[in-house]
Amino acid sequence: MNIHEYQAKAVLREFGVPVPRGIPAMSTAEAVKAANELGGPVWVVKAQIHAGGRGKAGGVKVVKSVAEVENEAKRLLGSTLVTHQTGPHGKEVRRLYIEEGSAIDREFYLSALVDRATSRIAFVASTEGGMDIEEVARTRPDKIVSFSVDPATGFMAHHAHQVVQALGLGRDLAKQAESVLPKLYAAFIAKDMSLLEINPLVVTKTGALICLDAKMGFDDSALYRHPDVAALRDPNEEDAKEIEASRYDLNYVALDGTIGCMVNGAGLAMATMDIIKLYGETPANFLDVGGGATKDKVAAAFKIITSDPNVKGILINIFGGIMRCDVIAEGVVAAVKEVGLHVPLVVRLEGTNVALGKEIIKKSGLNVISADDLDDAAQKIVKAVRGVA
Ligand code: GDP
Ligand code: MN
Repeated sequence: MNIHEYQAKAVLREFGVPVPRGIPAMSTAEAVKAANELGGPVWVVKAQIHAGGRGKAGGVKVVKSVAEVENEAKRLLGSTLVTHQTGPHGKEVRRLYIEEGSAIDREFYLSALVDRATSRIAFVASTEGGMDIEEVARTRPDKIVSFSVDPATGFMAHHAHQVVQALGLGRDLAKQAESVLPKLYAAFIAKDMSLLEINPLVVTKTGALICLDAKMGFDDSALYRHPDVAALRDPNEEDAKEIEASRYDLNYVALDGTIGCMVNGAGLAMATMDIIKLYGETPANFLDVGGGATKDKVAAAFKIITSDPNVKGILINIFGGIMRCDVIAEGVVAAVKEVGLHVPLVVRLEGTNVALGKEIIKKSGLNVISADDLDDAAQKIVKAVRGVA
């Protein structure tokens, strides 16, 4: 789960990390009130959406009067911001963050993330701040320093030293970095974050090291330990299909391909996605209906898949172990009766009660292409969506 910049900065503040003063605003009137409270003389009006690249898209404006704050707030609220991270449809701006303006001397990049390769938290630092870090990694990999932290020792002085060296900080700034970095690490651990990105981390003209932007992601599996974080969820920022799936306790992730997948077991679901790609198409989602799914749960899953306008075909791939093939079949038939079926459907059933499952589908009169195994199923659905079945 991700949160907004203003929420992330509040978390950082909690841990004593320096961030500019700021006040969130949900309306133009609140923005004006916030600007008056902050006092100026320089303000930054920042669109709050779960995506970076706002600056270049006009979503971050440095202004010098309350009247300008008002104008920018009017312009931004309700508008759709398209950045290189939002996708072509962009995101609607419903919240703003009004911040005191900072005079920037230098901009750096700093992030911490869970590094799967080392099973540790890794830090990434670069002098090329305020820029797209993927671009820096591609064109100037020498400008990026990265190291991981041993969980047994925690964040140590030599880690801070590496960042200080990488960013070329003088003595006074080095001292500030030595104070800020362990706090970032502490916040990361305490809140079970998956990503903390400060881009830019800046040195102000008065020589202060502060976090000017903050992107924070959390480990969904640990959210139960952090009701305060879970409360920050913004449903407007999340995929409606994923919210619906979580209501039914389905392991569902929306993707941008064309083939909807309904599979039982995460491993089989991954293999199904892989084989779809192998045959030249892309999955529209990851979906593991789980072991003990009921007919209602299966029907809900099927409806979520068919509600995606990108879905040009559906592949049901079930290896019935704990999951029974007849339950899947009943769920699918019930869902199709309710919402109809307008795309090709390939079904591969194997395992517990497979004969009964096949029988239910056959009797229903559904226009189903049946498949014998995973390979056969993938080839058939790819052919079907390409209209050469
Ligand atoms: P992003 O584009 O979504 O990553 O939004 P950021 O919060 O990183 O802001 C984009 C850019 O706006 C920063 O890299 C800065 O160059 C600039 N910016 C943000 N806040 C301030 C500020 O207080 N003063 C000045 N001068 N520039 C700012
Ligand atoms: Mn940024």
